[in-house]
Amino acid sequence: MNVLDATARAIRDAIAAGRLSAAEACRNALDRIGAVNPALNAFNLVDADRAMERAQEIDRRRAAGDTVGPLAGVPIALKDNIDVRGMRTTASSRILEHFVAPFDSTVTQRLEAAGAVIIGKTNCDEFAMGSSNENSAFGPVHNPWKLDRIPGGSSGGSAAAVAARCLPLALGSDTGGSIRQPASCCGVVGLKPSYGRVSRYGLLAFASSLDQIGPFARTVSDAALALSVIAGPDPCDATAATEAVPDYAAALTGNVKDIRIGVPRAFVSEGVDDEVRRAYDAALETLRGAGATLIDVELPHAKYAVPVYYLVCTAEASSNLARYDGVKYGYRSPKAKDSLKEMYSRTRDEGFGPEVKRRIMLGTYVLSAGYYDAFYLKALQVRTLLRRDYDQAFERVDVVAMPTMPTPPFKLGEKTDDPLQMYLADVFTVSANLAGLPGISVPCGFSNDGLPIGFQLMGRMFDEATLLRVADAYERVTDWHQRAPAI
Ligand code: GLN
Repeated sequence: MNVLDATARAIRDAIAAGRLSAAEACRNALDRIGAVNPALNAFNLVDADRAMERAQEIDRRRAAGDTVGPLAGVPIALKDNIDVRGMRTTASSRILEHFVAPFDSTVTQRLEAAGAVIIGKTNCDEFAMGSSNENSAFGPVHNPWKLDRIPGGSSGGSAAAVAARCLPLALGSDTGGSIRQPASCCGVVGLKPSYGRVSRYGLLAFASSLDQIGPFARTVSDAALALSVIAGPDPCDATAATEAVPDYAAALTGNVKDIRIGVPRAFVSEGVDDEVRRAYDAALETLRGAGATLIDVELPHAKYAVPVYYLVCTAEASSNLARYDGVKYGYRSPKAKDSLKEMYSRTRDEGFGPEVKRRIMLGTYVLSAGYYDAFYLKALQVRTLLRRDYDQAFERVDVVAMPTMPTPPFKLGEKTDDPLQMYLADVFTVSANLAGLPGISVPCGFSNDGLPIGFQLMGRMFDEATLLRVADAYERVTDWHQRAPAI
């Protein structure tokens, strides 16, 4: 088998059957990363020795007849804001450039218990703040379909690595679209689970009421497999839901005859690129052809989602990032000699990049006395109204469909001087986080320039099963996900 084109399921099955060794799969991934990463810059760290040791351990255990788990021997990469004990977690920030995680995140533990082989850590926007992966202290990730384009952010390294066939699975985090956007830009599947579905223990906090870890894959069924491994309650994270985790593989029936798809026409009509709109309309028609029913829905407050998101996420970030002060973690400025205050301020000035500073300042401002009511509190109120829009829509439909991004992936550098324009790229993704709902992006076409376009489905709280079923049914009757970039 061609390991690099195979799905996680196929790799796992081949290893279980003895047709492939975990060591071979690992070696393939490492070679491929060695070949394409100089052009992509998708990895902050590759730990070849650790990965090969783990892979050989899987092979030994399999040979000894031990049970080896649902991801046995499958190479995987983690966004560099997720802790793996003994490896650096930098969040693509100078302030954590040399920080080594003292413990495993819960998702790391669960992946390794399932037999997955962690190959390395992927590049991302600094502290996951961005939509284009241009805010990394270690340089941008390049889109494997066209190297002068953004891969989407903030989990751009994970998406690019999966699209470029470095490995079949990667994890990212999604606070306002950071799994779904890069999935859309790179032509792969990206799933943001419901808030609380996956433990955040060991994920570096950006905005705690919005952050969620989820998988990238090249098929919906692989995304379902990865979710089934990482989902579930966790005593280390009080916000990890106790909701039962269903059998996601069993949900992929291919049947959508009972499915009602909500179409927010008014919301989707503005500011959407023509090629994206055509791909979106065609995807809806495909699902209708497969037996689903399309129903118009109203989301009257969706137009406020971007401003609400940027008030809430900056407020939470300003608080979460207060811990990086030169004392507890990471970098400390060697220049400060005179006072503790000078040490704090130089450390943060030298350690954080411009976007992170912008957000800390904005967040501090909207939480300050006198502005709190006008900005932060107001944003929370509108957040509730938005959540109600979705509650009402989900009384009549099973999923809501939108484009993932308003445009195909733009050129690197095109929007870096204009943060507001950049924030508008999040118009279709932030509401899932504000409402806590699950969302998935699947490939649904290509622009005339040959750049991937994504189709997004959002579901009811904790109903990833229906979301995955519809996405998988779409994938069964289309072949967008089978195309590979030339790199
Ligand atoms: N693009 C959004 C932002 O810049 C979302 C980021 C994310 O989901 N981590 O905040």
